[in-house]
Amino acid sequence: MKSISPTAYGAVSGRPRCPCCNGATNRIARRWVDMLTNIFVPVRRYRCREMRCDWEGNLRNPPSASLPTGLRD
Ligand SMILES: [Zn+2]
Repeated sequence: MKSISPTAYGAVSGRPRCPCCNGATNRIARRWVDMLTNIFVPVRRYRCREMRCDWEGNLRNPPSASLPTGLRD
């Protein structure tokens, strides 16, 4: 796993933005139905941190964290 840069994990920059308000998101626990979805499409569940937005949903994994460099293309 040394091909993945340290910034791919835990960094704020690697987290997707809220599609509703473009705010920061928190990762939350998946529901069972999300685990089924994850079999076909690698997704993670996120919730918007903005109180007034309160968006919650699944987003694709960041490309940098899903596949090691070299296996793509
Ligand atoms: Zn939002």
